[in-house]
Amino acid sequence: DARPNSPEARDIRYHLHGYTNARKHQETGPLVIEKGDGVYVEDIAGNRYIEAMAGLWSVAVGFSEKRLVDAATRQMSKLPFYHDFGSKAHSPLIDLAEKLVQMAPVPMSKAYFTNSGSEANDTAIKMIWYRSNALGQPARKKIISRKRGYHGVTIASASLTGLPNNHLSFDLPIANILHTSTPHHWRDAQPGESEEQFSARLADELEKLILAEGPETIAAFIGEPIMGAGGVVVPPAGYWEKIQAVLSKYGILLVADEVICGFGRTGEMFGSQTFGIKPDIMVLSKQISSSYLPISALLINDKVFEPIADESDRIGTFGHGFTGGGHPVAAAVALENIKLIEERDLVGNARKVGAHLQARLRKLASHPLVGEVRGVGLIAAVELVADKATKAPWGKPAALGALVNGFLQQNGVISRNMGDAIAFCPPMIITEAQIDALVDAFERSLDAALPQVHPQG
Ligand code: PMP
Repeated sequence: DARPNSPEARDIRYHLHGYTNARKHQETGPLVIEKGDGVYVEDIAGNRYIEAMAGLWSVAVGFSEKRLVDAATRQMSKLPFYHDFGSKAHSPLIDLAEKLVQMAPVPMSKAYFTNSGSEANDTAIKMIWYRSNALGQPARKKIISRKRGYHGVTIASASLTGLPNNHLSFDLPIANILHTSTPHHWRDAQPGESEEQFSARLADELEKLILAEGPETIAAFIGEPIMGAGGVVVPPAGYWEKIQAVLSKYGILLVADEVICGFGRTGEMFGSQTFGIKPDIMVLSKQISSSYLPISALLINDKVFEPIADESDRIGTFGHGFTGGGHPVAAAVALENIKLIEERDLVGNARKVGAHLQARLRKLASHPLVGEVRGVGLIAAVELVADKATKAPWGKPAALGALVNGFLQQNGVISRNMGDAIAFCPPMIITEAQIDALVDAFERSLDAALPQVHPQG
């Protein structure tokens, strides 16, 4: 008989997507999600899951928020589309720009709208290059990103991304993109090296890279406050302070990619607040609209805006923009979504129930398969190991992550393994009771995997 999500249940012959073994996917079929309700989603066979990844780090307000549906319907009836090119704009975007600039944790000047995180990061690169040109420093083009950082998949944003499978086969990264070390203390610190010492070493490495390349060639540094897709890597103590000290010494712009952390995930409205980051550019997406419709934005400060403001006659206009960028319906949804986050104090909830999630996960630290538990607020990861002492994986890297993730799905939780790290990033409306159900299911999944990893007990 047909398995619930098998090719027999849905004809998937014509469907291809990324991040999977395409041939195997044709045989096993995807998990087909049909419905959403609060923190739950349901597949076509009627199985219900806690969506512990908020879709893809996206859905702050849950999967059935009528006020977002109504906001979309109202705007769709009034003005379903208009563009944001040249001398045209529309009210939802003007309102959203004002709201975002007001919300920014550091003084920001302007908002620029795009459709996705990747596009926003591409836009940031071009704006930075345009600014260098406007300043009469066209050689100031290099942008420093980090290994394991994730900034998107277009040619330029994939170049910023520091994960191998986003580069292989594509001749990436493109020129002028450099990568420095991941701030992953648990994995990469030397024996006995404190978090502060490790942070100091990485800041030193960054400074040496800048000096070796020539400071006059370095335009910007980009980083996620917490690395998401790289495995929820939480920066060690002192990291951002020390990195920012190096950047300001050489007048290098800082871009905070808040695509995952933004709008409350860390228990503050922005991840930059959690870690004392003072960016010149902030990149926002995902939870900006709970991803009900795609929209993304860049916030730029005066250091970025002023040099480019009057330059169009001299160097040409900033020749950039997307037809659907800042779509009016998506902008209306984003405005309502932000209103809901504020009204319902979902940031406070992320702090409160997030503390519960972190505490419950940390209780699993002594489990034989758990290497490290890390996270802040409602974003967390548990890194799995076969050998706690050596931190060795179980056979091939990611095999244990995939095994436990499979058990989690059987136990009614949708999560995601990034290598051997299992990530948790539930909708921000989640309750303590729902977190308990989630962590209980995770514990059962670890116990189910244990006899396969350590057959002798
Ligand atoms: N930046 C970060 C930090 C992300 O996590 C992502 C997506 N996971 C992106 C950028 C790219 O966003 P998109 O998938 O919308 O292009």
